[in-house]
Amino acid sequence: MNFQEQKYLIVANWKMNPADSAEAKTLFKAIKKETAKIKNVEIVICPPFTQLLFARLPATGCRLSANLKLGAQNCFWKDDGAYTGEISPKMLKNLGCNFVILGHSERREFLSETNQIVNKKIQAALKNRLKPIVCIGEKEWNVNDFDFEGIKTQILESFEGIKKTNIQNIIIAYEPVWAIGSGQVPSENDIMKAVILIRRLFTEMYDQKIAQKLKILYGGSVNSRNAGNFISNAGINGFLIGKASLNAGEFVRIIKAISEDKQTGNNE
Ligand code: PEP
Repeated sequence: MNFQEQKYLIVANWKMNPADSAEAKTLFKAIKKETAKIKNVEIVICPPFTQLLFARLPATGCRLSANLKLGAQNCFWKDDGAYTGEISPKMLKNLGCNFVILGHSERREFLSETNQIVNKKIQAALKNRLKPIVCIGEKEWNVNDFDFEGIKTQILESFEGIKKTNIQNIIIAYEPVWAIGSGQVPSENDIMKAVILIRRLFTEMYDQKIAQKLKILYGGSVNSRNAGNFISNAGINGFLIGKASLNAGEFVRIIKAISEDKQTGNNE
């Protein structure tokens, strides 16, 4: 793919913020205004469930566009039924979501979400034409060797029974757990190593063409100072961003760092 055709994907994970929907609208509008002319970056905002509706309501002025889309941070694996407190992928689709983050490390840690649960959610999301952003990553940084075994298990179990034809609609977010919200980041080489191993595994599970086309994001303490280097040197297709996505100025700087960086072209 030549660099002019490349499109990076930047996903904002607002987590359980902001508590106030007026603040959410202000944040959304600021991001929209500052990124309106950017063509080579697709931006996906994933607010909390309670704030998903505002982007659909013309009165809020937060309309979605070709480059600005909506995602959710989680979903259940059934379309409807007696599942108190859950939100289905069908509901998310009806609200205008195109993406859903699945298997985030915070859900794995605090809500005991397993690879088997992630697998059911991937299938349910795909059935409802939502693109799953599947989070994987090692818990600890190993100085001596990159430990791929845990990541391999996460992928093999989460993708059990997922058909080849669906992989083009799935995004992998490589998020070393130790880097999330910590201010610590892996080197570009280490991210590249993880990306190569993930593509190798997808080649074994599916085929090389699918593995090469697979969109892989990096997530964990991304900011406007490290984003350009990661995009240029780590072989990734974009970012999943937590903390920095709650600051419109910083989030927009990250997006601009990537859009100005397009000529380096590692997004094959
Ligand atoms: C995340 O929670 O997915 C994340 C990447 O967070 P942060 O950017 O704050 O490290």
